[in-house]
Amino acid sequence: MHGFCGCVAIKKKNISECTPILEVNFKKQKEKLESLLLPTAGAEETGMIVHPDLCTGCGNCVVACPVDVANDPKGAAIGCAPTSDKVIFRVVDGKVVASNIKECRRFGKNRVLCYACIDPCPTGAIEFV
Ligand code: SF4
Ligand code: SF4
Repeated sequence: MHGFCGCVAIKKKNISECTPILEVNFKKQKEKLESLLLPTAGAEETGMIVHPDLCTGCGNCVVACPVDVANDPKGAAIGCAPTSDKVIFRVVDGKVVASNIKECRRFGKNRVLCYACIDPCPTGAIEFV
């Protein structure tokens, strides 16, 4: 996909404001771009629930969360005990406990609809409401 201003990609402008992409020749590209941007546009602020009855403490979410990886590369990111208090997930007594929720990529001005913790959870214990 090329020929469109980067303002759409970085969300400075809406697709409807991008004159070239509104041309009939770019109909397919416009639909593709809309589908790519839709999840981001729909992201809502974090309302995370970890269901303790479902969590097995496997730790998949701990190592998968990009915030944990970035904030604790020598601990949570490699499946070890956290060495930073900025991690989101930590396993306590066999269950995951979530904290620092405002660090979650689903939260705040530049939020995105991240699924990195939900997808590898084998039991569906993580829910965003
Ligand atoms: S949604 Fe993404 S950033 Fe937020 S807790 Fe899950 S993996 Fe981490
Ligand atoms: S991936 Fe799911 S089951 Fe595993 S620790 Fe995280 S919430 Fe618990």
